Amino acid sequence: MKIKKTTFLKFFLSSFIVILLISSLFLKFSIDEIKRIFIENGKNELHNISLSLYDSFKELLIAGNQQDIDKACKRYGKRLGIRITVIAKDGTVLGDSIKDPNSMENHINRPEIKAAMKRGEGSSLRYSTTLDRYLIYNAIRISEGNNIIGFLRTSVFLNDINTEIGKVKRDITEDLVIILLFSCLVSLVISKTLTIPIEDMIDKVERIAKGNFNVRITRLRRGELGKLGRNINDMAERLEFLFNELQKEKQILKDIIDASPVCLCVIGLDGKIIMANKALKELIKEQEIEGKAYWRFFKEPKLNLFIQDFEKEPRDMQQEVTIEDKTFLCNIKFIKDQESAVISLYDISFLKDTERIKKDLVANMSHELKTPITAINGYVKTLLEIENDNEKRRFLQIIDRNVERILNVVNNLLLLSELEIMKKLNKEDVDLEEMIKDIFSMFYPKLKEKGIPFLVQIDKSARLIKADRFRLEQALINIIDNAVKYTEKGRITVRAFCKKEEVEIEISDTGPGIPEEHISRIFERFYVVDRSRSRKIGGTGLGLSIAKHIIELHKGRIIVDSIPQKGTTFHIFLPLKA
Ligand code: ADP
Repeated sequence: MKIKKTTFLKFFLSSFIVILLISSLFLKFSIDEIKRIFIENGKNELHNISLSLYDSFKELLIAGNQQDIDKACKRYGKRLGIRITVIAKDGTVLGDSIKDPNSMENHINRPEIKAAMKRGEGSSLRYSTTLDRYLIYNAIRISEGNNIIGFLRTSVFLNDINTEIGKVKRDITEDLVIILLFSCLVSLVISKTLTIPIEDMIDKVERIAKGNFNVRITRLRRGELGKLGRNINDMAERLEFLFNELQKEKQILKDIIDASPVCLCVIGLDGKIIMANKALKELIKEQEIEGKAYWRFFKEPKLNLFIQDFEKEPRDMQQEVTIEDKTFLCNIKFIKDQESAVISLYDISFLKDTERIKKDLVANMSHELKTPITAINGYVKTLLEIENDNEKRRFLQIIDRNVERILNVVNNLLLLSELEIMKKLNKEDVDLEEMIKDIFSMFYPKLKEKGIPFLVQIDKSARLIKADRFRLEQALINIIDNAVKYTEKGRITVRAFCKKEEVEIEISDTGPGIPEEHISRIFERFYVVDRSRSRKIGGTGLGLSIAKHIIELHKGRIIVDSIPQKGTTFHIFLPLKA
């Protein structure tokens, strides 16, 4: 609003001052001109009067009676309302219509007398010391033949002219005031008409400058202002387009950075976070971190020290750090031009896990093979030394059991590596109920021996599924085998039903259950909860690993629920669409 008023006032005041200045100058010049015309007219009039009186005063001068001259001056002066002075050739005043000529000083040096002496006539506008007033003078030379006999001087008071001029001045001033008032009104209207679109433009440009790019100038005029308005609109449109493009690009970039599983953030050399991606915010469990110091959120001392080290001497750095049981590879990339650093935290826990699993696998496999081989080795050596047939038979049976165990481990390992390279399954229609019942019939003697009943509940909708019959049976045998092996009392139940686009197979037992801390690892190769128990009942630690592989080959998943001392339930989910 302030700007609007200033623009309008500036416009209005400047035009008002211009009008005032022109009017004053006009007033001054016209008055000067009028004054000049009045003076000129006065001089002309005096000239004409002097000519008409010339003869009379020539006669009087020739006659040479000063009293007559003075009387004539007074008489004509009174009649014509002017001052008349007659001056002798030597400058002596012979007669004057207002003053006593004897009291007047010599007039030979008066400018109008000097001019008349030279050129025959002269005039001047000057101050009269005799009368103490301003007068216009006209003097003519009176000659007889070639001899100058005197001068006739006529004059009027300037005051009289000034009074006349004053009247004209008043009239002109009155007219000018009216013109000025009218001009003010016109200037007010013009200023308003001109400033309204300018104010509109200023207001809109201000809004555009503040980032409101969809603002447009609507009152588009013709001429220069219209052109300016259209240019501003074009500029705003272009800015809006560029701004939107920039926003889109920024959003795409943000989406890409946010989609990255790597935790990323940029920090300035002052330690303040410039930006951070979603993964990092999730890791530190904070959302509004931009503009704040990194040490408020990076609580891990090793990571903090690592960044502090960078701050002391900015350079590219790399180090492993542990945050909440996870191992990260922390990279600091120094961006010199931006005086900042890109910090990335790459979760390498899975690499660490794989490394550990590999180590465990080799150790477990060696152990699984070494134990029966050592046993076989010992019994073979003993066999060579004993004679008793019964004892020989007992040792051979032990050797046979250990060979079978080695074979079992090797077969399972071979099966696992076969599953690992397998790409395609031989899928066909499988009657799930029939398959499960067949599996239970395999375990029937064992179940009967333990006195454990089994229950099979297969929903009609889940009865027929598409699967690799041989592989699926293998997976179910491994899981049901475990249930039979580990359950001593209670029951074993297998249920199957359809759930959305999947079929779920549930195998529950009332066995010892699996402690919480082991649940995440039971699908690893050779992982067993209790090694001596497992060995006693003939486990190798490969059964669940094989089952998981088979289910995943079917694009399904397997999870386990277990309550220690209550039982375990395995859930297998297989997609219905083959
Ligand atoms: P194993 O041949 O030793 O049974 P698995 O891979 O089949 O090997 O199972 C891994 C481990 O998971 C077992 O050693 C056992 O401790 C545990 N486990 C599997 N199934 C059950 C179950 N139904 N009840 C209790 N523990 C189980």
